[in-house]
This record gives sequence, C-alpha cells and structure tokens, in this order.
Amino acid sequence: MPATKLTKSSSTPRLSESPILGESTEAFCGDIRRHFNFTLGRDKNCKSAHYAYTALALAVRDRLMECWRNTQSAYESADSRKTYYLSLEFLLGRALSNAILNLGVEGPLGTALTELGVDLEELVACEQDAGLGNGGLGRLAACFIDSCATLQLPVMGYGLRYEYGMFRQNVENGFQVEEPDHWLRNGHVWELERPELTLRIRFGGRVEHYSEQDRRRRVRWTDTHDVLAVPYDVPIPGYRNGTVNTLRLWKAAATDEFDLNEFNAGDYAESVRAKNLAENITMVLYPNDASENGKELRLRQQYFLASASLQDVLRNWVLKHGQDFTEFAAKNSFQLNDTHPSIAVAELMRLLIDEHDLSWDQAWAITNQTMAYTNHTLLPEALERWPVRLFEQMLPRLLEIIYEINANFLGEVANRWPGDLDRLARMSLIEEGYQKQVRMAYLAIVGSYSVNGVAELHSNLLMQGLFRDFYELWPERFNNKTNGITPRRWLASCNPGLNALITEAIGDGWVTDLGQLSRLRDFAEDRAFRERWRKVKQENKDRLIDFKRRELGLEVDRFSMFDVQVKRIHEYKRQLLNILHVIHLYDRIKRGDAGSDWTPRCVIFGGKAAPGYAMAKLIIKLINNVATVVNRDPALKDLLRVAFLPNYRVSAMEVICPGTDLSEQISTAGKEASGTGNMKFMMNGALTIGTLDGANIEIRREVGAENFFLFGLTAEEVEATRAYYDPTSIIEGNDDLKRVMNLLETGYFNQYEPGIFEPVVHSVRSAYDPWMTAADFASYVLAQQQAAAAYRDQDDWTRMSILNTAASGQFSTDRTISEYNRDIWRLRPIPARAAL
Ligand SMILES: *Cc1c(COP(=O)(O)O)cnc(C)c1O
Repeated sequence: MPATKLTKSSSTPRLSESPILGESTEAFCGDIRRHFNFTLGRDKNCKSAHYAYTALALAVRDRLMECWRNTQSAYESADSRKTYYLSLEFLLGRALSNAILNLGVEGPLGTALTELGVDLEELVACEQDAGLGNGGLGRLAACFIDSCATLQLPVMGYGLRYEYGMFRQNVENGFQVEEPDHWLRNGHVWELERPELTLRIRFGGRVEHYSEQDRRRRVRWTDTHDVLAVPYDVPIPGYRNGTVNTLRLWKAAATDEFDLNEFNAGDYAESVRAKNLAENITMVLYPNDASENGKELRLRQQYFLASASLQDVLRNWVLKHGQDFTEFAAKNSFQLNDTHPSIAVAELMRLLIDEHDLSWDQAWAITNQTMAYTNHTLLPEALERWPVRLFEQMLPRLLEIIYEINANFLGEVANRWPGDLDRLARMSLIEEGYQKQVRMAYLAIVGSYSVNGVAELHSNLLMQGLFRDFYELWPERFNNKTNGITPRRWLASCNPGLNALITEAIGDGWVTDLGQLSRLRDFAEDRAFRERWRKVKQENKDRLIDFKRRELGLEVDRFSMFDVQVKRIHEYKRQLLNILHVIHLYDRIKRGDAGSDWTPRCVIFGGKAAPGYAMAKLIIKLINNVATVVNRDPALKDLLRVAFLPNYRVSAMEVICPGTDLSEQISTAGKEASGTGNMKFMMNGALTIGTLDGANIEIRREVGAENFFLFGLTAEEVEATRAYYDPTSIIEGNDDLKRVMNLLETGYFNQYEPGIFEPVVHSVRSAYDPWMTAADFASYVLAQQQAAAAYRDQDDWTRMSILNTAASGQFSTDRTISEYNRDIWRLRPIPARAAL
C-alpha cells in the first residue's frame, strides 16, 4: 500500500536528500546513458528511437524535478493565495522541446546528443502529442499554464487523464475516418502518479435528511456507487526562472470493496463489468468542439473533475487550517474554463455544508467569492443544459442544492424587478418545458464573482445578448480578457530561424515581454533585414513542403503563396467559403482568365470534424474532391494547388504556422469568440485575410488596416440582414458565384458520386443559412485579389510580414494572464527558491 510508512525507527529517513544534478554536457551524457541502460534496460542492439527519446526525456525530467520541489516548497511556506484552473481539456502537444527551451539547456544538451550520436529532431518527433483537448479552448488552457509558470504565479491546473485523447484523423477516398488515439501506449514519461492522494467520488444513491441532538438539520447522501480519482501530476516549467507548476490530471479507478462484494456473491463477470463502468469515466475525450453532447457519461466526467479537484483543495486546506474556513475565500479561487466544470459551484456548496459543517450562508459567501467563469462561445447549441431527470439519478444531492441556489436567486431577481415573471422564467437556472433542464451557464454566472468573455467583441455581445439579463443585474461581474498564445511554443520554439533573426535585431527580452517586438517596426524599413526575413520565411515554407510531401506525397511550387486555413471544421468557421473561392480560381484559370500577373497559390486546409457532424464531414469530402480535380490538371500546375493535411494537431501547427503566407480567419462575424490560430499565424509573420470577428478586430487594430485584408459583413450587419437574406438572388447577381454554384450543381467534382454534395449546395442557397456564406462571397473574392496583388511585390509583402510580427505583442498569454491576475485572481508572484 502506498500509505505504508517508510521506516519504523524514529530517525528521519534520509532518502529525500536530493543530489544536485549538473547541467554540463558530461552530466547530460552520463544521465542519458544511465537511463537508457538501467532505467530502460536497453543495450546496443536496441535500434528503436523511442527508447533514446525516453532516456533523453527522463534526463530532462530529472532537472525539472529539482525545480518542481523547490517551487512547491516556496508556495508551501509562503502560504499565499492560490488559483486553480479547472478545465475538461488541456491540449498540451509535445513536452520535450518546450522543457529544453524553458530550462535553457539547449547548448550542453545539444553537444551531449552529438557525442551520443543521436539527432534531437528525430527524438523530438518520437513523442506522441498529448491531445487532451479538441481545439482552441484546450490549447488556451495549455498556453495559460505556461504563462502562469513563467509569471511565477501559484496556479495549479486540474483536468482529466483521458486514456484516449482526440481521435486520429485519416482520409480515405476523401472522407474523414477516425481512429482511436491510444496516446499512453508507449508510456508517458512526464507524469507522476500520486496514488497516496487518491479520493473518492460519489454517484447515484439517495439523500436522507435528519436532525441531530443539536437540532441542526443534516444531510446524508447514501447508497452511492463510488469511483476513485487517482491524480497524475505533470510538471509545467516556467521560462528560465526555476519555477515548475503542476497540472494534476485525474484518472478514474474502481474501488476495491466494490469488486469484492460482487466477487463474494459469486458473480465475477459482474464485478469486472462494474470495474469497467467506473474506469470508463476517463476513458475518452468527447470529440465535439463548440457543440452539445447531452450524454450521461459527459456529465459524469464533469462532476468527477469538479469533485476530485475541490476535495483535493479542501483536504489541503484542512491539513493546514483545520475546519476553520474564515480565510478560505481570501486564499483560494477557481477559474472555470467554460461551463464544462460549472457543477463545481454546487459541489463546493455540498462539500462545505455536508462535509465541513458550514451553514448555507457561510458556504454561499465562500462559493460566490471563489468561483470565476470564462465563457467561450455564443453558439446556442454549445450552452450546456442537463435534464433534471439525469441529475436526480446521478447527482441527487447536487440537484437539491441547485434548486436552493435557484430559489434564493429568483428571490433576488423578484426583489429587483417586482412582477416581471417573464424575466424570472428567462433567468431561472431551471428551464421549464416538456423536459426540465438545468442551465449550466446560468449556474456558473450566479455562483461566480467574475464572468469574462475572450475578446472585446465577444464580451460585448455577451453583455448585450446572451447574458443581458445577468449583466443588468450584476454589471460589475462582467469583464473581458482577450485570449493569447504562449510565445515560447508559438515563436521561440516552433520558429528557430525567426527567433534567431529577431534576437539578433532586438535582443532576447521579447520572449518574456512580447511587447518588445514593436521594436521590429524600424527594421521593416531596412531592405537588408527584409531580405533576411524573407529567407527565413522561405526556409520555413520548405520545411512545410517536406511535411506535406511526407504526409501527402504532394509536390508544390516553393515560391507560391501558402494560403492556409487550419482549425476545427465547423460551418461557422466557413471552410466552405474558402473552397468556393478555390473553385472560383479554378474556374478563372480554366476560362483563360489567368494572365501573366497571376499569383500562384497553394491552398492548404486542415482540421478535424466532430464524428457526428455530417455537414462538417461533407465539407472535408468536398475539399478533397476539389483538390483531386485541381491537382491532377496539368493546366493548373504552378498556378493552383490544393491540399488537405490530415490529422491537424498541435505538433502539426508548429510546422504549419511558420511556413504560412496568408492566414484565413473568415468566420461569420459574431460567431468566433476569439480565435487563437489567428494569433499564431500573425506572430510568425503571416498576413491575415479575415472578417471583423473575435480577436481579428484587435489584430487589425494593432497591425493597422493597411496590413490586413478585411472583408465581409459586420456582426451587426449579419443580424440586420438575416430577416431578408436572399442567397438565390445574390447568386443570380454575381457571375463568379453563379459559375461556382453551377459547377457544384452539375456534379463537376463528384462525377462518380452523384448527388453527394447536394446538402452543401442547399445550405448555401438556403434563406436560413445561419452562416450567410453567399452574402460574403463577393467581398471575399475582392480581398483575395488584393492579397494576391500584394504578394506579387515580395519586398513589400515582407515589410507587412515584419509589421505583423512586430504588432503581435498584445497576443501573448503573458499579457492575458497578467490581466486575469490583476482583475480576478489577485495573486502575488512567488519566486521558486532552492530547498534549504
Ligand atoms: C491554436 C489551435 C487551435 C485553435 O485554432 P482556431 O483557428 O483559433 O480555431 C485548434 N487546434 C490546434 C491544434 C491549435 O494549435
């Protein structure tokens, strides 16, 4: 048993006295060899790069361990305020390069690897992406914890350790085919299991109310089916500052007595089934981005994360402070990453009242001063609602608490707006109707002291639209925190060429103070510098070509404009608009309208569709069919190429964004909450073609309208146009679009698959098309022509490229996290320090 004491003698064991590890070439050589030979038990006959990778990763991890314990002991002794970031997703990608960069050991380690005769890049590629997220929301969580560590903030991430992460995407005959991502198969060297910190999570059962001698009413939640939560800790290193924070991921495991009871009853098979049911909770990540799940198992995951994380925090509190919670709210806060973990509001109430004996009012005061909620989407289908009936069965005690929160809350609303029954119904946490539902976003708002959106436009639309009633009640709760990305992964590490050039020009302070990139503005006027910048971009494009050749076998003109749209496939993101434009370019070439001033393009798509999202999958098929027709036509060689890169993921983006010329950010205005892909491209010197949506607005403001290709309706115009939207007459009035639709409608791209694209045609022609694709076609084509013309002047394009990187300083998560900390968390940075 893990809890067994190490020694019975009264003397303190000296096991924990840590040796100091060197960071010299010799020290690394020795440690990598030792791990290869002894930890892993390999020898000269082992040809698999995987073991060399593991040995290297373990040697790097050893160095993180020292900083990790120093950081934790500094937090421990400071006893300061802390924040816990609760997220169902952390899209981490690979860890090795990031750890080497942040530790600052590239020099000696590089020499060591040369001596050992191994290639770093090859080993780096051995690491499986940790794909514990769908897209932007999960990647944001990963960038956030990187910045928290770099800013030395005492922030801990809490998430789930899914056995299967985001599915692997194959393309067969143009169709997406999903394969399970068993990312743990070859082990995960970065995690540390902490079985001694296992907790118990309850499900089902029933609630008993009773009174004790002191006549206080008490609650017992009994006959539950319990599941164990086992923590696995992942180190999150700050940038060269000795700090290593913790990401704690929970794995579900069956309880022992559960098995035993069934076993005694003689039903072995039943006991194994029960075990599987328990362990199912963290088996798989739900692969839906920005859309509702409605599945029982998903609610189980949400409660499992919330309960385990809160119990963990409360256990530590009680160890230090006993049952005295007077200081708890001053010392702790929880940031909820979207509504997914919002059951934490009710769970904290339950734990404080039922397990720690606080009164309702005391518990509510604490909850309401510690919970903070981030909203990530305006799409109504993504606002989670759970059937009351499901709550009754799975979490009966939580439902009671939600009802009481609602009763108190509606009392407050009635008090403020007497007689306004419509408002009460609108704002209630319970949606009445055929099937009563709990509105999880409202639970999060009512339970939190801060509610934020993720870009200026998005936060404004929340206050004026979706959450207007709540904004009228509590305007002071609402605020904006524009998203960002970590410049360590998304510039310093993924773009070594640009890193070196920028550092030569302005020093290396930008890595932790990204605003310093603005000093590149002067260099944009320097012709020699522009030439070097262009060369780096070309090298990055060549790297991307290699990647494409490996993945697709596709040959492309290395000087053509790399026009890229990679992100989840969703109708609101309008990959469809992009492919309609590609068809238009094809049509122009075929009708002889590609003159000598034609700008050759390679249009690259990538992204996964939710497995149940038929229209998104059909759009992938359309892109692939168009690519087949375009790429095999000799008349188009060197004028137009189209590629769909399968299995888009973090490690793919690290090659894609440095090699991109033109970044496609073309969502229907008012639909993309922020976007972060847009920031990665900009930081790496791509120009953006985009709508006034999400953070595009702020990107354009920072870089200047003259360095951004704008098109399309505004969010206001989109809403104003809806009532009389008439795509058929738009198509009739635009010869280019008419010809494109004609090619689609005559089955030009699906000659052996009759009718398959009818749903696509229908969606563009529908007066109820929520994404208004036809409405923006003409202005999109115009903006594309401006981009093509601009690209012909390579020197001026390069100037604009430099200006984009120079203006990207705002979009560092260091800035975002500083704002969270200033306005919401109010943490004091705590430097790590060596143990005494
Ligand atoms: C950045 C990133 C995203 C988010 O991209 P958007 O364009 O903002 O939707 C999604 N997936 C991966 C792998 C990313 O790196």
